[in-house]
Amino acid sequence: MDDPWSLVAAEAGCFAAEVARGPVSRGIETAALRARVELLAAGFVEPRPLPEVLAELGAMMRAAGVQAEHPRHFGFFNPAVLPEAALGAALAGIYNPQLAIHDYAPFAAEIEGATLRLLMERIGYDPDQATACFTTGGAEANLSAVLAALARACPRWLEEGLRGLDRPPMIYLSQAGHDSFAKLVRIAGLGRSALRTIAVDRDQRLRLDRLAERMRRDRELGRLPLVVVGTAGSTAAGAIDPLTELSDLAREFGAWFHVDAAWGGTALLSERLAPALDGIAAADSVTWDAHKWLAVPMGAGMFFCRHPDAVARAFSVRAGLATGLGDRGVDPFLTTMQWSRRFAGLPLFLALTTRGLAGYGAMIDRQADLGERLRELLRAAGFELVNATPLPTVCFSHPAIESGAIKAGALARAVADSGAAFITAVRLHEPEREVLRACITGRSTAEEDLRILVEALGRALMN
Ligand SMILES: *Cc1c(COP(=O)(O)O)cnc(C)c1O
Repeated sequence: MDDPWSLVAAEAGCFAAEVARGPVSRGIETAALRARVELLAAGFVEPRPLPEVLAELGAMMRAAGVQAEHPRHFGFFNPAVLPEAALGAALAGIYNPQLAIHDYAPFAAEIEGATLRLLMERIGYDPDQATACFTTGGAEANLSAVLAALARACPRWLEEGLRGLDRPPMIYLSQAGHDSFAKLVRIAGLGRSALRTIAVDRDQRLRLDRLAERMRRDRELGRLPLVVVGTAGSTAAGAIDPLTELSDLAREFGAWFHVDAAWGGTALLSERLAPALDGIAAADSVTWDAHKWLAVPMGAGMFFCRHPDAVARAFSVRAGLATGLGDRGVDPFLTTMQWSRRFAGLPLFLALTTRGLAGYGAMIDRQADLGERLRELLRAAGFELVNATPLPTVCFSHPAIESGAIKAGALARAVADSGAAFITAVRLHEPEREVLRACITGRSTAEEDLRILVEALGRALMN
């Protein structure tokens, strides 16, 4: 058999060029797809040679669905992955260090620690006074924040669970905040009614007056304002809530202040964009995904917290897992939701050490510039810009959408069907309406790609 790694290297070598040559997205009948999978799955009974299976797999991966690697992928924050980060993910799989226990994988644990400490400094945390861990993604990081807040505010919760709480705990999030909170209130056992969705202004930013009013009312009703969430880079429109004011308000009510910066957090690596996140240093905890704007493969979120004691209370358990090797650092399983886990920090470490902070900053600034350029091109082509953010997420509409002649979703689909570019439709809340959204997520996206997108939009409007 051929060396399997040379097969992977060959695939990786032509991957980006192959993807750029094809359409950015392709819908395929599920029935047709299942038939192809069944052919491959025949190998369950009659094993097939690896080169054959790999060739078929690669072809199908490129043929079906949305290609985030494509320079004209302007969809949700699923970026083209940096090659060195993909390599890091492969190495993590090959070495497969066990990151539950420090002694088992001390070098891997220290690499993750160094990476997280660097980013803690960017947030404005003192790395010696804070704690951080890699998570599976932003959803887990947001859940971790709520559990740490519960551990700090309600010591009896640790022993008695929700039965031990005197007052129902409430979580406050803007309408534009992420839907993972709707799920995590169930996972945490708090239930749907614990989540207070606060109205936004015309820039899709949380309204402070509404939040203050809601928390006051909840307190009068005997409820406990537990967590105030500020979104720094909303998923739909890149809106950044007023973080400093939110943190003051949270403090006034004795609530935990969490910043969900799942994709927007990466703006902290740009001298130019970082000021837009002023106030984040005052957060009790922060969610920041490496697998979004930091462009590493999925399965790499991060959770940062200024209260190591609260995190330890939420997650530590006594387990007889000592190996007796060396001097032990802190075992990662004591400070996260996970137990056995992947070396999630290696892809980011490799990208940061080979690109440097400055290299990352330049990449982000370039994408922000392209966002500005796209705004100019859209305006010149008769589109209306409907969001305000320094981040490269561009929401826009058109007189034909506003008049009801065509729906934003239909237009996004027509552009995708043309194969020229991929954009999405999103719902904004103030005013409530569906608009188009194009987000710059690719490192190979160039100005020419923006022009092709705007032309594709023009053609779709005429049909
Ligand atoms: C993507 C996103 C999340 C969820 O993160 P996952 O990594 O998908 O779990 C949470 N909040 C915001 C603002 C996001 O954009």
